[in-house]
Amino acid sequence: MQQITPENEQSPFLEQEDEPPSRCLHRELKLRPSFLIPDRQLTLPSFPRQIQKDALTRKRSFRKRFFPGVTDKQWNNWQWQVQNRISTPTQLNRFLKLSNEEQSAFHNLNVKIPLGITPYYMSLLPADEPDNPLRRTVVPTVHELFKVPGEANDPLNEEAQSLVPGLVHRYPDRVLLLLIDFCSVYCRYCTRARMIGRGNIHAGGLRLEKAIEYIKNTPTIRDVLLSGGDPLTLSDKKLDWVLSQIRAIPHVEIIRIGTKVPAVLPQRITPQLVKMLRKYHPLWMSLHFTHPDECTPEAYRATRLLADAGIPLGSQTVLLKGVNDTVETMKDLMHHLMKMRVRPYYLYQCDPVTGTSHFRTTVEKGMEIIRGLRGHTSGYAVPNYVVDAPGGGGKIPVMPNYVMGHQENDLVLCNYEDKIFRYPDSVDNFNQYPDQGSIHGC
Ligand code: SF4
Repeated sequence: MQQITPENEQSPFLEQEDEPPSRCLHRELKLRPSFLIPDRQLTLPSFPRQIQKDALTRKRSFRKRFFPGVTDKQWNNWQWQVQNRISTPTQLNRFLKLSNEEQSAFHNLNVKIPLGITPYYMSLLPADEPDNPLRRTVVPTVHELFKVPGEANDPLNEEAQSLVPGLVHRYPDRVLLLLIDFCSVYCRYCTRARMIGRGNIHAGGLRLEKAIEYIKNTPTIRDVLLSGGDPLTLSDKKLDWVLSQIRAIPHVEIIRIGTKVPAVLPQRITPQLVKMLRKYHPLWMSLHFTHPDECTPEAYRATRLLADAGIPLGSQTVLLKGVNDTVETMKDLMHHLMKMRVRPYYLYQCDPVTGTSHFRTTVEKGMEIIRGLRGHTSGYAVPNYVVDAPGGGGKIPVMPNYVMGHQENDLVLCNYEDKIFRYPDSVDNFNQYPDQGSIHGC
């Protein structure tokens, strides 16, 4: 396994990412005018005032200590954030007091996922709490060096379902198109650990042309999901080009973008970006949020810009042991997402990716969390809990059992308070009284 280092990881700014394929490649690094976010603009009515105050104080003291000469203009520039990512153990040591488990990870050459943390996300991590939920998701530990039975590098069998590299065609009417293998922050539990940060998949050249050609030539495809890596780490210009190519295909009805950017690099969501995105409606976005601590004033602002541009937002959360595996934490996260106008969409059972056993809970734990949400909070705040079937079988919903069975002509149901109810569920009843049987209240 190749050791990933900052030298061989490919940054979207440094290598052929600013121009569409078949045009001259613009390799020069440019900082575009930044979109300034004065602290006062981060004051949000739906966000508890004290939490906003604490967040501001923490951010100021972090910046004063670690980035004293950095201006607001630089800090709020997403490209500055990417260029100044923490990507080596030495850099990490400056910010965090590393535990033995964390240090041991770096002594081994088999770490598969590169290290990458934006200064913004680093400002959310406590220096001396290795068990902090956000820290666990982005700082490697020795546990990821171990493989347990049932784990695989490509558990969802994406490679076998890719007719063109980076284009996964699993379901008849939709495809997953991986645009780039770069992310601004690397999650230690990533399903695509086998490929992220390697610099092999980028949004250019023959590969992308072939993928677009395949979509053009397959009329059953009505829905294209752009993912990676993180597609929003591409420049506006590159993304604009890709979206225009896909939108020009008559049978493609829906375009979706999967991204973690609003949680880890909210500075990327600029008015210029959303102005470009809204040209391609109907465009949907799946956002990856893991823990309520990611729902900062900056993240609120980012989702507000996206929602105001008419982009329907859904969230995808991976259930992670020691990170979000309690009803309280999950409910808190779902409530934040609702306030951010993000519909909780999927709760994923953690995929059996090699080296992630320390993150996996039992499926029973996931059902316990859904049981703790359903009926106890708004229905909109309850995501679909799914297991992505190993081998490529797709997402399979897993539900706590609320149906007790049939008794005579009744369906016996159990509600969220464990009370039993009966519903007349006889086919004969409906045939005898068709009108009554088909009337439903709102
Ligand atoms: S942002 Fe997504 S693709 Fe990137 S490391 Fe995290 S889970 Fe993987």
